[in-house]
Amino acid sequence: TERTLSIVKPDATKRNLTGKIVAKFEDAGLRVVASKRIHLTEAQAGEFYAEHKERGFYGELVAYMASEPVVVQVLEGDGAILKNREVMGATDPAQADAGTIRKEFALSKGENSVHGSDSAASAAREIAFFFSGLELV
Ligand code: ATP
Ligand code: MG
Repeated sequence: TERTLSIVKPDATKRNLTGKIVAKFEDAGLRVVASKRIHLTEAQAGEFYAEHKERGFYGELVAYMASEPVVVQVLEGDGAILKNREVMGATDPAQADAGTIRKEFALSKGENSVHGSDSAASAAREIAFFFSGLELV
């Protein structure tokens, strides 16, 4: 079994879509093992997405991620990292497969409803970024 870090992003929490999004992960066999609603500061969002610091969309991404509360979760299951990304769909909703979260709910390439860790190393960093050992059972 494996764990990954999932975020229901501001565009989705604002439209009250958290439950519908989490249901898609659960239907795919992923289990929510930690969950909380937080409102990131721009500094926190910037640190979380530091790998994109040099990209043209970085400022916009950071402002967006700090614009409304988000729901951060740890999802667990066999092959959770890949499975989570399959259920999310492509970054750009126009490129996402039918039935994926981003195809159904995302507004644009930036406001794309969900984040998911892209590797085991990212998952370890991102889970530790949001959750303490005491919050993880
Ligand atoms: P995430 O890391 O959020 O799960 P991802 O791995 O599919 O998404 P990345 O390339 O890591 O995509 O980009 C991180 C996030 O930055 C995207 O999810 C999106 O919100 C935003 N983003 C990426 N590309 C663009 C772009 N061209 N214009 C605006 N925002 C973008
Ligand atoms: Mg990414």
